[in-house]
Amino acid sequence: QAVEILTAHGAVGREWDTVIVAGAQEGSWPSLGETGSIFGQEDLIDLLDHDIDPDTPVSHVASRLAEERRLFHVATTRHRQRLLIAAVENPEGDTVSEPSRFISEFAGRGVDVPGQAARRQAKRALRRTQLPRELGLDVPEPAPVSLRDGLEVDPLDVAVLSVPAFVAQLRRVVTNPESGEVERKQAARQLARLAAADIPGAHPEQWWSARSVAAELPLHTNGSLSPSRVEALLNCPLKAVLGNVAEDPSTEEHLLRGTLAHAFFEALGRGMDAEKAKLLVMEAFERIQDVPQWQLRFKLDEFSTLLDRAREWARQSEVNQELAGVEIPVGVRVSEEVRIGGYMDRLLRDEEGNYLVVDLKTGRSTPAKKEGEDHVQLMTYQLALAHGAFDGHQVYDGEGMPRQGGVLVYPGVTTKKIGEIWQSDKSPEALEEFAALLPPLVEEMRGPRITARTNKDCDKCPIRSICPVQEEGRMTTDA
Ligand code: SF4
Repeated sequence: QAVEILTAHGAVGREWDTVIVAGAQEGSWPSLGETGSIFGQEDLIDLLDHDIDPDTPVSHVASRLAEERRLFHVATTRHRQRLLIAAVENPEGDTVSEPSRFISEFAGRGVDVPGQAARRQAKRALRRTQLPRELGLDVPEPAPVSLRDGLEVDPLDVAVLSVPAFVAQLRRVVTNPESGEVERKQAARQLARLAAADIPGAHPEQWWSARSVAAELPLHTNGSLSPSRVEALLNCPLKAVLGNVAEDPSTEEHLLRGTLAHAFFEALGRGMDAEKAKLLVMEAFERIQDVPQWQLRFKLDEFSTLLDRAREWARQSEVNQELAGVEIPVGVRVSEEVRIGGYMDRLLRDEEGNYLVVDLKTGRSTPAKKEGEDHVQLMTYQLALAHGAFDGHQVYDGEGMPRQGGVLVYPGVTTKKIGEIWQSDKSPEALEEFAALLPPLVEEMRGPRITARTNKDCDKCPIRSICPVQEEGRMTTDA
């Protein structure tokens, strides 16, 4: 006679001292899957009530969501004293589990649930006493309420009943210059007690966010810029310098795919048997895959086609030109401050001895043809050739080499013709103008102050959450 287990529907009109709403998971609450569709009764209701032809597609998601929300409201208003809502958050399990969206709405950040304000008042009162008691602290004085902009601010109003949230709330009160003196002292005193009890995050030594610049020292760089680095720094210096520290597993596979394709391209240029090279590269590519079987076949076929097309491009390019070298090391000083370094995928030479820079790209689409003329990486290679010399193995400081421009090759695109983006041979004036952009980049790389420059790729940026010019990164600078 102590516990009742029932559905939300079954709880309508009843009350208990304690109510536990279990399994408040996205997918089951709300459950938005089609119901009743075997016999099409919803279509029948639409036809009868609204004269809607059953062949007209109608979504019932909105009405079902409203009904599920209403039921959640029913379930969470049945208690007289205590309500516990239970959910699991496990984004990395075999089956992803996510708490129901209704929980955050219920916690006060969404819809206006009738009676919510009164319940929130009651919850606040409970938190003020209950949580500190559970942590073994003195029950604080009745919370001093300060009036700011006409709003009541309760320093102990935590949205989630947990120790980290409580510690965070106390820290916020201590560090907020707008907190009242009494609030700050109270919060500081409690933090000190929590720190003495080894509660993580309570001691100021564990407050990781920096509130002042820690050091104004430049980063160590050798002043050498690779063509891809130049492009990245021109795009956004902050991302170029810090972007690599952000882990992105999808980028890793993407990079390995590129590395393997380049290895194949190099092996061909060095005269290795093409079939054997392909076999080795395909084996390695298969080993790095972590996808279901049905997807694996597709990925292998796609990569195999990329390799075949790269091989075909290489064959055709050598009909009228001589292959001067592959994976050629470049180390050329182009000004007092700037040295260009890196590796060139291929260098072709025509009958008159003019060199063509070839850069292999493994993306699945090409940029617009007109972007080739301003392509930063090809431009940087051309600048290096204009100040370099080639000894058959490497490009080093010299008097300048005769050039015929550069080409980006895209064997991974699915167009009939293998994708190519060309850049014409640049005049000395154009290269000089481009070279003038580089010295500030070396400075940017060195820091310690680095520019964040918004650009069209900001929405995919891996460090967006700490970027000071983005809304979500402001807390790093406005701490
Ligand atoms: S979000 Fe944009 S501006 Fe910020 S670091 Fe990333 S690319 Fe640069």
